[in-house]
Amino acid sequence: MSLQLYNKKRNFKDTPEPSGKQKKTASKLIFVVQRHKASHLHYDFRLEMEGTLKSWAVPKGPSLNPKDKRLAMMVEDHPYSYRNFEGIIPEGNYGAGIVEVWDTGSLSDIDNSDTATAEKKLIAGLKAGNLKFTLHGKKLKGEFALVKLRGKQENAWLLIKHRDKFAVDEDYNSEEKTPKNSAINKWLEKNKEHQKPIAEKKVTTALKKKE
Ligand code: MN
Repeated sequence: MSLQLYNKKRNFKDTPEPSGKQKKTASKLIFVVQRHKASHLHYDFRLEMEGTLKSWAVPKGPSLNPKDKRLAMMVEDHPYSYRNFEGIIPEGNYGAGIVEVWDTGSLSDIDNSDTATAEKKLIAGLKAGNLKFTLHGKKLKGEFALVKLRGKQENAWLLIKHRDKFAVDEDYNSEEKTPKNSAINKWLEKNKEHQKPIAEKKVTTALKKKE
């Protein structure tokens, strides 16, 4: 597992995000969902494996309703230290905008094995394109699956809630589960009048420079 791409995309003199180093977790595996207002608002879904955070961008955010199949685009591995990153990524940087932690907690396989066994199972699931896991968060609880779409875009997966005691039948909108006074919402409110779209051109230029 490599953090090369993560490091390549970012200029750490310019962004407050942590630089990419592999780090083993203390005991339990963790997950984190970060809400990220970049050019578009989306959710970044991250699962710890082998000292890094396997990452998917979920445009609509996760759902506790098993009927929802939420598109999840796999992106580059993020460092373990990204799990509690919150802050503003300045304009001109990759992912420019603002990030807040939406939910976090421990991660296990669905059999609740010991950490080493769970990690092996998760990695096998990831490789097979069919990853089953259990989340122990404040908002996200119970069993989920990430299923790779075959014959579609290379990195497209679906995030699906399994039916268990934490599943819901009503519509699930992650935006409604976000406090009105969250850091991003306050920031959006403050920047309302003089809000300008994030300059995507600048980001592209910044990326090209590093290649
Ligand atoms: Mn993101």
